[in-house]
Amino acid sequence: MSRGALDRVGGTVTGEPLEPELAASALETAPMAVAVITAPGTISWANRAYFAATGRTPGLLGTDFHDIPETDGTWSPEIRAAMDATLRTGASSTFRAVKARYREHRPGVYLDIDIRPLPRRDAAPRQALLMIRDVTDQVAEHERSTVFYQAFRSSTNAMQLTDAEGVMLDVNPAYERIYGYSRAECIGRRPNLVRSRATPKEVYELMWQALLDPTKGYWSGELLNRDRMGRERPVVLTITAIRNERGAVTHYLGIAIDLTEQRSWELRAAHADKLASVGQLAAGVAHEINTPLANVMLLTESLRRRSQDPWVLERLDTVTEQVDVAGRIVRGLLDFSRREEPHTTELDLVEVARQTVEFLKGKQSANVEIEEAYPSEPVPVLGDRGQLVQVLTNILNNAYDAIAGVGTIRVAVRRRGDRTEIEIVDSGPGIDPAVLPNIFEPFFTTKGEGRGTGLGLAICHGIILSHHGSITARNVPGAGAGFLVSLPLHAGPAAG
Ligand code: ADP
Repeated sequence: MSRGALDRVGGTVTGEPLEPELAASALETAPMAVAVITAPGTISWANRAYFAATGRTPGLLGTDFHDIPETDGTWSPEIRAAMDATLRTGASSTFRAVKARYREHRPGVYLDIDIRPLPRRDAAPRQALLMIRDVTDQVAEHERSTVFYQAFRSSTNAMQLTDAEGVMLDVNPAYERIYGYSRAECIGRRPNLVRSRATPKEVYELMWQALLDPTKGYWSGELLNRDRMGRERPVVLTITAIRNERGAVTHYLGIAIDLTEQRSWELRAAHADKLASVGQLAAGVAHEINTPLANVMLLTESLRRRSQDPWVLERLDTVTEQVDVAGRIVRGLLDFSRREEPHTTELDLVEVARQTVEFLKGKQSANVEIEEAYPSEPVPVLGDRGQLVQVLTNILNNAYDAIAGVGTIRVAVRRRGDRTEIEIVDSGPGIDPAVLPNIFEPFFTTKGEGRGTGLGLAICHGIILSHHGSITARNVPGAGAGFLVSLPLHAGPAAG
């Protein structure tokens, strides 16, 4: 090998010439595989690490690398071409994380390869240094991190990573979707961003106790969080402390499984169950009561015909009134229990709403103003016309009751994505928040005796469920009660 060349390499790096022997022995024992190639391609020197890494013997020295089969060793066509270029023009090349193809290498060895020209002496042939570093561990580490990061990003559960002080470093797309905050809004904030006051303080105290306990280091439980819109989000949250090799906590990883949908599904299922059993009972009771009621009615009529006594006649009027009330309840019960599968046809929700409002306007007080907001396009749904009219009539009648003859009722129909909505908001006193969760239950009523059966909204709820829709009630700020019915939009053949 050329000692002078190495001497000058040493000189370039340190600014001071390195003893040629020192330079040679340093290179000989360096952990990096190094070979010197002399133009046009002779492998003229290689260090121990080179032989160790490539599994070659010193017999390799003096061979031309062009004679080594292309599929063998590091001599891929690109590296050959780069080496040729260096030996011809003195250009340098660098290859990062090249997959090695050494014969005896297990699969998946990665190398960083550098080709550098050696300073040229006079007319001597050009020489190049080939330096090979095994970076398999770094590549594997990088790949592992990439896979983990992708797993974090692709998870359908909301994930949040905080530092040891609990400052958020990252959140995944599921977190952004579930809580409605963007990643940028979260980074630098604390997880209490989504804390709900509905979750007692003690839950958080227990959580921190478990997290800070070195023998435990994780916490898991169900709690309520709060999304950006202020909606409560029931979640199963698991927080794990991430520790370094010395056992010190460096990060916390929080994983939340959103239970919102499951909860509303459970609620609906429970409600549907309740409706079904109450419905059966109601049907039985209604039939049983109908006959005695009819008898009372007949007897009253026959007594009325026989008596001239005003006192008796007045009492008989009261009996008739009470029988009427009972009859109304029985009809409600039968209506409630006789919930049939809807006979659906394609309907325009705007037209259904408009006609129902027109019909009720004729029957109700003139002091009530009805504001209607409909889109100019039809809003197609698949539905049972009679049943949908019944739902709207019931909600509108309740609204009339609530405003007690004077006020405003707003009716709006709109499309929202692949859903349709009808919203009815009145200017009444609203619904007592304490009973809001109960109003769809059968027999729940706040109306006086004989005025309400508490079956209207329960029937509406059943009808809307069988239409694959939802019905919700809320108190509208600045107004009274608001009912929202959502139904699937019917994309008929014309709509594609
Ligand atoms: P009913 O009208 O026979 O009481 P519903 O099932 O239709 O039965 O309604 C149940 C209850 O819901 C009512 O008694 C009332 O307390 C409440 N409610 C319904 N609509 C309204 C409204 N627009 N404003 C205030 N409260 C309402």
